[in-house]
Amino acid sequence: MSASGPTEDPRDDLRVTPPKTVAAGVPAVAHAIEYSLAQAGPQRTLLTLLSLNQAEGIDCPGCAWPDPKHRHKNEYCENGAKHVNDEATTRRVTRAFFAEHPIAELDQKSDMWLNHQGRLTEPMVKRPGATHYEPIGWDEAFGIVADGLNALASPDEAMFYTSGRLNNEAAFLLQLFSRAYGTNNLPDCSNMCHESSGSGLGETLGIGKGSVSLDDIHESDLVFVVGQNPGTNHPRMLSALEETKRNGGKVIAINPLPEAGLFRFKNPQKARGVVGRGTEIADQFLKIRPGGDLALFQMLNRMLLEAEDAAPGTVLDHDYIAAHTTGFDDFAAHARTVTWEHVLTATGLTRAEIEEVHAQVLASRRIIVCWAMGLTQHKHGVPTIREIVSFLLLRGNLGRLGAGVCPVRGHSNVQGDRTMGIWERVPDRFLDALAAEFDFEPPRAHGYDSVAGVRAMRDGKATVFVGVAGNFVRAMSDSDVTEAALRSCSLTVQISTKLNRSHTVCGETALILPTLGRSDRDVQASGEQFVTVEDSMSEVHQSRGRLAPASPDLLSEVAIIGRLARRTLGPGGAIPWEDFEADYALVRDRIARVVPGFEDFNARVAVPGGFRLPNPVNSGVFPTPSGKAVFVVNQPDWIEPPAGHLVLQSLRSHDQWNTIPYAMNDRYRGIHDARRIVMVNPDDLADLGLADRDLVDLVSVWTDGSERRAEGFRVVAYPAARGSAASYYPETNVLVPLDSVAEISNTPTSKGVIVRLEPAGAAGAAVG
Ligand code: SF4
Repeated sequence: MSASGPTEDPRDDLRVTPPKTVAAGVPAVAHAIEYSLAQAGPQRTLLTLLSLNQAEGIDCPGCAWPDPKHRHKNEYCENGAKHVNDEATTRRVTRAFFAEHPIAELDQKSDMWLNHQGRLTEPMVKRPGATHYEPIGWDEAFGIVADGLNALASPDEAMFYTSGRLNNEAAFLLQLFSRAYGTNNLPDCSNMCHESSGSGLGETLGIGKGSVSLDDIHESDLVFVVGQNPGTNHPRMLSALEETKRNGGKVIAINPLPEAGLFRFKNPQKARGVVGRGTEIADQFLKIRPGGDLALFQMLNRMLLEAEDAAPGTVLDHDYIAAHTTGFDDFAAHARTVTWEHVLTATGLTRAEIEEVHAQVLASRRIIVCWAMGLTQHKHGVPTIREIVSFLLLRGNLGRLGAGVCPVRGHSNVQGDRTMGIWERVPDRFLDALAAEFDFEPPRAHGYDSVAGVRAMRDGKATVFVGVAGNFVRAMSDSDVTEAALRSCSLTVQISTKLNRSHTVCGETALILPTLGRSDRDVQASGEQFVTVEDSMSEVHQSRGRLAPASPDLLSEVAIIGRLARRTLGPGGAIPWEDFEADYALVRDRIARVVPGFEDFNARVAVPGGFRLPNPVNSGVFPTPSGKAVFVVNQPDWIEPPAGHLVLQSLRSHDQWNTIPYAMNDRYRGIHDARRIVMVNPDDLADLGLADRDLVDLVSVWTDGSERRAEGFRVVAYPAARGSAASYYPETNVLVPLDSVAEISNTPTSKGVIVRLEPAGAAGAAVG
């Protein structure tokens, strides 16, 4: 099949209704219950929802938004309920299913169809030359992986990918196994999303994490929500912003699309959310061009400097700048050169809009900037984050209540996995601690990130791919190249809960190793286990499965990784894999000795709600080389499409979780029964000579002159920013070349794709 999409073609079923201007409310509850009951039935739905996000319950796999201190009985959103019950489904993928469906046939199915087949139930193998997966015992499966790894000329010919679903204990063991085996090839989904945040924050503040807590959000005078769609991707953030508003704070939303959750929120937990109009969220909305955020913050910084000139000693926090920062003079000199002409072109905003933001900034003592992939997945994503840090430093908006940086992460433990050492460039101090604790010398050379990993497989430098959780082939950019790279491997191994496209894109030998989900009860030799996760605000807490496992033949991720390690590394060594599998508390004891901030881990995580990892920035300590926060000079950068072209951003629909659509709808945006659509401003459509519902191909054009095509998209006239377009991920991943990445972070530039819209079939007609 074409990597760009499923064969089921819903184009002609497209139905469009007006986009919603209010998020959540009773309809959200109804949709959550309807989906949950259809997947998991009444009994399992009741069990999951009663324990979801409770102190001793299941941590929601939906996103990384933190739990409040005082929890309601129903502490979840529509999407959280859907995600956990999608995992708790009663549907099963059995050996009979695999006997009935050849892999080539499964490869023709859509992401949604594959997911809806249900939970995997036993290990399966595709042997060399086979057309089908067949059952295999765990022991033989581990032997195939061990033999495959041990046959490589170098450990660096293998890679161990993970997504943010993995819990802390399993993540710690995965990186330990990888390094004991001999490689730092530990790509993860963070490489594709918030790597620019980590790079930008690490360079300027010395730590690649957010600094704020929920209390900060509640107490802030002004919260910026930039490049982010909280109503779909982190819905309970709206409850926090509702609190901000009730406390008198303001919200400014900046995004190319006017998303429902940015405007009004009806909190279904509150009577006013059920019967009233709900809470207005954004006091001001800026419909910015994709990639214009760097220019906007550069102008806001120039305006702060000029306001200080006009009223010395009243705008900037000179004491903070002098005590805690370096680079101010160079930064300020450069900031004054930013021109209105450039900023208005780059942003598509008016001067009056930006002046209104500036006035609000001057009126606010405590400011937070939140962001997501609308900033990070651009070529200049890292400079944008650095500019935001400078914006906050100018007025001392770090380290005090109601102020700070807030990268909002999408996958539930993506931040925790990085803390546990899932990082191809982990610092030497982490490796030193690992060496001391486990008595081996870890490799020091940096490993492959996701983009470098695909290049390595494509070029024959890596031939064994082990994926723990996630759906690598659909998450990565350049779908055709990524698929070919995976198919060229001698061995692909996917440790998964449900069927996905990464199982149909096989190496010569392919294994599916089915694992327990977050919602499954996990019983080991020492008794029932819990695992831990770290959310977007560095809170570490328990997650405990409540349901009978989907099959008696499942193993936990901790068990699978430990057994793979034992089989690959052989007997002996100082790592007690069997003990770790028997009692996860023993893993946490070791984490406590290796990872800073986890001292006394078992005792502290036993407290309901867990504990918060320290962020030195909040104590005025910046672990940068200079020991201070850094103002960085960023050269102006924005996306300037040639005439007749638009800047496309890929995004998720409301009825979608990461790479997996749950339905063919995008309820908040009013798109129904279709996914191959492209949203474009009506005025741009008129300029391009196109009409609403025209059928087009998306053709991306790149600086090296190459073009890529995704065929058959229905145009939807939509109130997007002028000059922009939006379409769904992963169908549009095919448009982003592997080498189109953000500076420094290497994140694929999925939010800044220059495209032209060609009438569908024009390419074939021209050739023919
Ligand atoms: S906000 Fe995120 S973590 Fe919370 S219930 Fe919703 S999807 Fe789950």
